[in-house]
Amino acid sequence: MKLKNIVLGFFATMPLWMPICTVVGIAYYAHKQKVYLQTRLNEISQKMVVELATQQQLKIGITHFPKQFSVRLSCLHQLGFNGQYEPNTDLMTIDSCIIRNDNETRRVVSHELGHLYVDALNETIGFGNWPNFSNKNFAQQQAIQLVSEGIGEYFERSTHPREDNFKDADWPKKVDEFSILRVRYVGGFHLVKPIIDSHKKAGIEYLITNPPQEKDLLDLPAYQRRALEQLEAKK
Ligand SMILES: [Zn+2]
Repeated sequence: MKLKNIVLGFFATMPLWMPICTVVGIAYYAHKQKVYLQTRLNEISQKMVVELATQQQLKIGITHFPKQFSVRLSCLHQLGFNGQYEPNTDLMTIDSCIIRNDNETRRVVSHELGHLYVDALNETIGFGNWPNFSNKNFAQQQAIQLVSEGIGEYFERSTHPREDNFKDADWPKKVDEFSILRVRYVGGFHLVKPIIDSHKKAGIEYLITNPPQEKDLLDLPAYQRRALEQLEAKK
């Protein structure tokens, strides 16, 4: 058989084998996921969290608070989000419909531990759950999300290192654009990194109690400089 005929046959029979391959692929994926969940479900909330929290304490230079919280594996049905922490219920959810292996789970748990830390810190200083969006306008909500996910990324990258590849020139020129996920997560990390690097817990406390205001969103390098100056002066 000539090569040309083989290639033609390949394409001509595509409608036949393509659906079969897709069904087999999906079944295999579902099986792998089921096996992963069955074997990991009971271990995930204990050993992994303790290990990651210990690593973060050493890398970041903070101490996690003795806070009660729960972890569950569940399908979040939220495209693009593989974990979630709810400050009102202290519940951490790891998306079982996306995650299939330990390394991915560790990365997500590490990120969510950042959200747990700030919630506990805010409660400790007497201000209740964090983040809290009540009585906040759209710009203030965007700023709080930016700080929140920036801190989540900082905790995540303390155990799963990644470079800061966001530049000051990448900051949006309009408040609306702060809802873009790259800005919120990668930009958030770029914003909080020098503040937490230098001031650890005090830096995190500054960020959650003095998040950027609407005018700051349009000049975040100035907000960052001001935060560093004020923290330096308090030392
Ligand atoms: Zn997050």
